[in-house]
Amino acid sequence: MYTKIKDTLLAELAELKEQGLYKVEVPLSSAQSAHIDVEGKRVVNLCANNYLGLADDPRLVEAAKKALDEWGFGMASVRFICGTQDLHKTLESKITSFLHPVVQDEGGRPPFEPPALAGSQVQDEGGQWDTILYSSCFDANGGLFEVLCGPDDAIISDELNHASIIDGVRLSKAKRLRYRNRDMADLEARLIEAKDCRYRLIATDGVFSMDGYLAPLDEICDLAEKYDALVMVDDSHAVGFVGQNGAGTPERYGVQDRVDIITGTLGKALGGASGGYTCARAEIVEMLRQKSRPYLFSNSLAPSIAGAALATIELLEQSGDLREKLHANTAWFRAEMGRQGFEIPESDHAIVPVMIGDAVKAAKMADIILAEGIYVRAFSYPVVPQGKARIRTQMSATLTQSDLEAAVAAFAKACEQVG
Ligand SMILES: *Cc1c(COP(=O)(O)O)cnc(C)c1O
Repeated sequence: MYTKIKDTLLAELAELKEQGLYKVEVPLSSAQSAHIDVEGKRVVNLCANNYLGLADDPRLVEAAKKALDEWGFGMASVRFICGTQDLHKTLESKITSFLHPVVQDEGGRPPFEPPALAGSQVQDEGGQWDTILYSSCFDANGGLFEVLCGPDDAIISDELNHASIIDGVRLSKAKRLRYRNRDMADLEARLIEAKDCRYRLIATDGVFSMDGYLAPLDEICDLAEKYDALVMVDDSHAVGFVGQNGAGTPERYGVQDRVDIITGTLGKALGGASGGYTCARAEIVEMLRQKSRPYLFSNSLAPSIAGAALATIELLEQSGDLREKLHANTAWFRAEMGRQGFEIPESDHAIVPVMIGDAVKAAKMADIILAEGIYVRAFSYPVVPQGKARIRTQMSATLTQSDLEAAVAAFAKACEQVG
């Protein structure tokens, strides 16, 4: 029975290889870190989302072990049957207060007493906020839109949004409108186009991962106010290190109380294991707990991950050292690569794409740079637009000055060799 599809699959796989679209996985023989072992060689790692260098941090490993001992290995249940531990509720309220810190009064108490409803809410002047955990941010986005928006509504989405937003939007019956990447005039036109819909929901990545550009959330929130729309931001590439306290792009743009829904991952800066969340207006979260399918029908986050995530956020609340180191590394690398004549898109984010243009050249350069002991990957069409091939580097707080100098030297050498 398998013969027919097998032949087709083999032909299609061969075609992918021919077109250079076949994805090869390079196994690491070490922990994820600033330095990794690849094919028997220790190299500097410039391509993980390990922005704060926490993926192998002993403090998180210890917190995960402690949670394993105290809370066991797995939950073997979804949240609403018997998959909720105190640990999950504590993590949810920790994420809420991290993203929506309440101004403390003199007595150290929040100015409003949050009602006892779900036990993990935070209230500020804009209302109440709450957080719901998922197995991944892919699931958080997959389980969001369908719950909130129906055929009478419109979801207005940035054209470069992450695949999980695109898929989540597809699962809803709402009208789907797209605007050009960060183009506020185009967003306004789409809002006008959707003016007769019941609700309008603007959905955007906080940071666009191929360019390192931030979404202009202040302008987006202004437009949302003008046209009575909700705002949803996926802050996966920002939470933990963008904004003064690491609360992400809403903090950076001063709109923490104007973004209605934030989704994010625990799989990048926040330790890098796995897990995701939606932090939103309390009623939205309450409805997600009732109706969001990846939450209802997929297993609870493992206790060790929840315990380590909690420790991560506590660490980030106590000290801004890792954030500062990351920003210093990013600023130095961007400036030095610029001085060497490389084209780097204007931003200050830790995603630092080095624009090459030609896909073959980009791939050749990446090989040379790896041979020099710096692990980088080239990205070309269809991941990025035709003729915009690049080597995307990502900074990390645990990279040293000599790592960065070696990286710049390797880029310079590859550039010379490839021409
Ligand atoms: C990485 C990423 C995701 C997926 O997060 P997971 O927790 O790994 O599923 C979703 N959205 C954006 C914008 C991302 O960058």
